[in-house]
Amino acid sequence: MASLTGLRRLFHWGPIIALSIIKCVTLMTLYMSNMWWPPNTVGGLLNKFLFLLLSSLTVFNFLMATFTGAGYLELGWKPKDENDTKFLQYCSVCEGYKAPRSHHCRKCNRCVKKMDHHCPWINNCVGWANHAYFTSFLAFAVIGSIQASIILLATVHFGLWSLILCIFSLGLAIGVVIAVGMLLYFQIRAIMRNRTGIEDWILEKANYRREGTSEKFVYPYDLGVKENIFQVLSLTCTPIGDGITWKVRDDCDQYTLTCEQIAQKAEKRARTRVYKIIRPATGSYIPLFSQGFKVCLSPPCTDEPRIKLEVGDTVRVTRWRKHWLFGERESPSSVAINNENTTSKSKSNSISPKRLPRGWFPRRCAVELVQPDDDRGTIQYNEDEEISGSYDQHQESDEHNHVDCQEEKKTK
Ligand SMILES: [Zn+2]
Ligand SMILES: [Zn+2]
Repeated sequence: MASLTGLRRLFHWGPIIALSIIKCVTLMTLYMSNMWWPPNTVGGLLNKFLFLLLSSLTVFNFLMATFTGAGYLELGWKPKDENDTKFLQYCSVCEGYKAPRSHHCRKCNRCVKKMDHHCPWINNCVGWANHAYFTSFLAFAVIGSIQASIILLATVHFGLWSLILCIFSLGLAIGVVIAVGMLLYFQIRAIMRNRTGIEDWILEKANYRREGTSEKFVYPYDLGVKENIFQVLSLTCTPIGDGITWKVRDDCDQYTLTCEQIAQKAEKRARTRVYKIIRPATGSYIPLFSQGFKVCLSPPCTDEPRIKLEVGDTVRVTRWRKHWLFGERESPSSVAINNENTTSKSKSNSISPKRLPRGWFPRRCAVELVQPDDDRGTIQYNEDEEISGSYDQHQESDEHNHVDCQEEKKTK
């Protein structure tokens, strides 16, 4: 069953394009290398053997990264000690707690262990179990493409078609060197710091929150470059540990980062404002006819979704632009849940707290509902939208947090 699921992953534009590029560059390079440096000499044979090895290792690691996946956290997961649940966030989709370094992936619709990002090229998440395969794939693809570029550049052409095909393959190979090379650079940097892309944002926000204070946030998984590398890479590419419990610095514990996340979420909730929709929003990226030029000329520069809204809907807004707002549409059931209960989990099927649509919509479609305990204006919250904006793209989680987590830990 597992292999079937894996094979199905290949039928998607990402893996199809990626494998086609590998195949195209490989075949053209082999054909050209026969002409340039025939394998009847030792050098020619070694050249060909090395290229075939790099090409095979690229495909092997690509397939392993795709089939292995990052590793999903089991549904309904909770820590062994029930008391530790207060240091963790709850995922309402997986109906379980999020282990340290786990995040919910919207594409996979599961909580993923040490999630780095969802990669469309492998049509799977990159994280705990396939991080080493993914990095090896990038490395072999770059080295193989450098060799391919040299061979394709050095070849003499006898016909127009050979020239066209060669230039095409050369373009692909150089494109791989540049684009995949950049990705490889970021992955190597992430491994040396033992920090995923998502954790970069959490850390950035942690430092931002403490600006101007003497307090300093210590990132718990930075064990020194050498140890950091061994946390991901090994000769056999087998993942280290169980993806739930992690080696941490002496001055930190298993929940240092999760508590920081909870505190950040609480801050975000504190600046959330409820808006009522007074004009329908189409959900279009360029709503020229419905909203006019002003709105279209100042779009939020992100590919995050735009949401469709009807008159009377309410939206919980967390980010502000001059002409656009970002928020989550409330459904009647979510209103009920928010009002009734924010700490315990509702197992009842009648109100299943599934993910609600969130995205950008034109500001002129909504008016703010002033809440009774609201003694602050909204304008002051524009300051940190850049950071929270980028951070939110990765942080796709929910709810049911415990604000006083850090205090409790201190007294523990
Ligand atoms: Zn989840
Ligand atoms: Zn995913």
